[in-house]
Parts: sequence; structure tokens; C-alpha cells
Amino acid sequence: MMLVVLLGAPGAGKGTQAAVLRDRLGIPHVATGDLFRTALRAATPIGLEAKAYMDAGQLVPDDVTIRMLEERLGRPDAAAGAILDGFPRTAVQARALDAFLAARGGRVDAALLIDVPAEDLVARLSGRWICRAAGHPYHATMNPPRVAGTCDLDGSPLYQRDDDRPETIRARLASQLADLDAVVEHYRSTGALRTVDGREPIGEVSAALGAALEAVAAGTSGRA
Ligand code: ADP
Ligand code: ADP
Repeated sequence: MMLVVLLGAPGAGKGTQAAVLRDRLGIPHVATGDLFRTALRAATPIGLEAKAYMDAGQLVPDDVTIRMLEERLGRPDAAAGAILDGFPRTAVQARALDAFLAARGGRVDAALLIDVPAEDLVARLSGRWICRAAGHPYHATMNPPRVAGTCDLDGSPLYQRDDDRPETIRARLASQLADLDAVVEHYRSTGALRTVDGREPIGEVSAALGAALEAVAAGTSGRA
């Protein structure tokens, strides 16, 4: 089992890099934000509960989020592992994940922090467009699709998320960055943390993440 956690502020590039890692590692990309958006489209109780928090730029409560994530990791396609994107987002979630994995003889093999300074995040998020079908991320200027308004990978239409409006972006950054710090400290203390410079172009960030994973697999890299 290979369990990789991608850490980063909103807009750091977790979704973008998770897609690359999924192809490289052959394990599913599990994004709690995508699970909430899918649940909302299906109007399930979890989706409806999450909506108010997402619209306000706040985190959905830990108990709901942890239950949803554990259900997802229990599905057969995650038996060999997963790349987690957007989970854990609090220290409580991080400890719950450790306990869930320990009960199955596993652990978080690598927690990869994509480090982007706060001042770059507003431009990343306000220019973000994602596809209807699978949430593949693009950026109006930094990573445009080949055909405007259309996903390169599956041809579905691109849209801007409700929570990528300027007011909600500010609320998300204001309320979520302290929790990210707590999660980063959690993985620094377990020794799983590796940090890459997320200001570099997408391909260079991918290469740095690949190198960090190889170092973890070889057991050669020291702490971040
Ligand atoms: P997250 O999942 O961490 O919120 P995304 O992967 O959705 O972040 O990326 C946020 C936005 O920034 C998207 O518009 C994406 O195209 C763009 N982006 C991602 N990585 C980079 C990068 N290295 N340089 C410039 N823009 C990037
Ligand atoms: P981003 O890609 O910008 O980081 P996500 O798609 O991961 O955003 O998450 C969107 C929203 O979904 C978050 O602002 C939050 O309300 C909710 N959410 C996602 N993951 C979690 C989580 N692990 N814990 C609590 N809330 C979450």
C-alpha cells in the first residue's frame, strides 16, 4: 500500500500535481473537495451539509469529512493506496488518518508540501477553470487549455468554481492557512514531510515531487 498526501494552500497546485502522480504511481487520486462537489450535485445529505461551509470558505466539520474519506479509502480501487489531495486539512484529520491506516498495517508514506507564498494564491485561484466531467484544473493565463473553454483531456466544458470568487478566496485563505501549518507540523514530527517549491512551472514542480518520492522510496532523504 502506498499512501501519499499532497499538502498545500488553496491554489498551490495539489489537483494539478495529483493528476500527474496518479498516472505515475497507478493509484487513485482522492480529493475531498471533489467528493463534496460530487455529493452536492447528487444532493446527498453530506453534499447539502458541506455546501454552507464551502460557500463561506470554511472547512467542513472534521467528523463528516473523516467519515467520507474513510468510506472512499475503503473502496476496492484504493486497496493498493491513494494520493490524497485536500485531506488532511486539520491536525484532527491527520491523526484520524494515521489511526485508520495503522489499523490496516499502513501509514502515510510521504506528505509532500507544495509551498507557494500567500501572495501568489489569489492570482492562481481567481484564474482557475476546471472541467465539469472530472475537475481537471486549468488557468486562464498560467495553464490555458488548447481550446478555450474546453478540457484538453475529456472535452468537457470548463467552469469557474463558486468559491473561486474574490470574496470567498479571501475567506478561504484567512480561515485555512493556520490549519495547514498544523498539518505540516504533524508530518514534520512523523518524518514524512518533504517540501517542494511550488512557484516553479508545473513541469518542474512535477519533477521535484517525483524526486522527493524516489528519495522516500529509497529511504535516502532526510527530513524536510
Ligand atoms: P489546488 O488543488 O492546490 O487548489 P490547483 O491544482 O487547482 O490547486 O491549481 C490552482 C490554479 O493554479 C489552477 O488554475 C492551475 O492551473 C494553476 N497552477 C497549478 N500549478 C501551477 C504552477 N506551478 N504554476 C502556475 N500555475 C499553476
Ligand atoms: P482547493 O483546491 O482550492 O484547495 P478543495 O476543492 O480542496 O479546494 O476544497 C474546497 C472546499 O471543500 C474547502 O474550502 C472546504 O470547504 C471543503 N473541504 C475540502 N477538503 C476538506 C477537508 N479535508 N476538511 C474540511 N473541509 C474540506
